Amino acid sequence: MQLHIYNTLTRAKELFVPLMEDPNYKGPKKDFIWFYSCWPTVYRDPTIGNYRATFTADLIRNVLKISGYKVKAVMNITDVGHLVSDADEGEDKLEKGSRREGISAWDVAKKYEKTFKDGMSSLHIDQFDVMPRATDNIPEQIELIKNLEEKWYTYSLAWDGIYMDTSKVEHYGELMWPNYKKRLADLNAGERVEMWSKKNPTDFALRKFSPENEQRQMERESPRWKWFPWWHIECSAMSTKYLWTQFDIHHGGADHITIHHPNEIAQSECWFHVHPWVKYWMHNEFLQVDGGKMSKSLGNAYNLKDIEAKGFSGLDLRYFYFTAQYSSFQNFTWEQLEAAKNARNNLIKKMQKLFDAHTKIILDFDFWMSYDVFKDEIESKYVWDVLEDMIAALADDINTPQLLAIINQSLNSLDKVEEVDMKDLFVAFHRLEKNLLKVGLFDRIGQETVTIKVPSEITNLADQRVQAKKNKNYGLADDLRKQINDAWREVKDNKDGYEITKS
Ligand SMILES: [Zn+2]
Repeated sequence: MQLHIYNTLTRAKELFVPLMEDPNYKGPKKDFIWFYSCWPTVYRDPTIGNYRATFTADLIRNVLKISGYKVKAVMNITDVGHLVSDADEGEDKLEKGSRREGISAWDVAKKYEKTFKDGMSSLHIDQFDVMPRATDNIPEQIELIKNLEEKWYTYSLAWDGIYMDTSKVEHYGELMWPNYKKRLADLNAGERVEMWSKKNPTDFALRKFSPENEQRQMERESPRWKWFPWWHIECSAMSTKYLWTQFDIHHGGADHITIHHPNEIAQSECWFHVHPWVKYWMHNEFLQVDGGKMSKSLGNAYNLKDIEAKGFSGLDLRYFYFTAQYSSFQNFTWEQLEAAKNARNNLIKKMQKLFDAHTKIILDFDFWMSYDVFKDEIESKYVWDVLEDMIAALADDINTPQLLAIINQSLNSLDKVEEVDMKDLFVAFHRLEKNLLKVGLFDRIGQETVTIKVPSEITNLADQRVQAKKNKNYGLADDLRKQINDAWREVKDNKDGYEITKS
């Protein structure tokens, strides 16, 4: 698969070439893709906007795998030092959660990390290979700050914190603007700088000092100040620790393009003297609600509990996410979610027909076989073409609406498809469901086949087995039982003869 992805850094859709194959790469040999995604701050129930980001991270990882790559995926858990504003102002999110719930900031973090991970399960998002907490990686953050101080990239503001001087960072702002040097100069020229404030508007904190007369729950002692670790530094520290000083893909929500990600880049590039630190930057766009901004104050920052209270499942929401390309804005309305739920149910019903016709297929396969290899195992020309189209949709910056259109179109024209093609079509969809869709197509089919009529080819085998046992031909009876098992069924003797269940 010739995977093309939109790279925020170059503002272009590019052919994905692993870092390993880059002539400028000087790091250790590796045979997998290094992937890092920023999420979440664990201080409240994650919203459906937060989960769109997590869904996207999982989607990118799975598309890389079906493109034939192995992936090491890291997703950090921010459990300290993130203010309500992404810049250096506002209230500490964890302290805010602590006051709201009357429990310690540490317990807030623990509680919402669990909520977040439970939500991932309801959305069929697999855990990432490493999900490190910021608070478990403090020494690494201290080391990084020390290194930047020694290289004179920083300055200290009394009673405030240690700041990064972004005027000394060669490529600062590159991710934000195509003409970043000019934009930055204009910004700096327009800003009145006070003696006691930041030197440049884009300078950001590496660590913050605790206010003199305020006790923070997550602060740390140091010879000079009580301080607490700062939000941006954790990603530079943990990506280096769990991946390397350069890596292939960094993902996050589009809200990070202007502050958090440029700051991560500044820290890491000044630390390691590498450029670019990350080869591909991928961002999912915002989820809007009723055509506008999602926010707590508007009462529309829905979470999974709100979704479930209205009779929708995590998988309905998952299907809804597929209906927009990750890099576009997606508009959430209850009607749209209802439409997604209906579309998912229709897909299940259509798939049921295909499944009933092909109960004998044994679906055991190498789970992450690349789709290019898999395609060559398909005999049917019709299905080969369908698969080609599906691969092309995914290779085009993961165009999931197009993917859904292809799936539905091919299921709508089943009556025009030859029997031999149906078998291959079923195998192709089964693989797609297991590797990527994960919207529950086969869970439901599995349950329903227990109650639906058993296909005659299975009952014929069972009848022959009864006869073979009467004739005391136990070898044949065992053989027939095996054939039934191969078709995913169990046969049990009872007083009426036999009973067939799903294995
Ligand atoms: Zn980050």
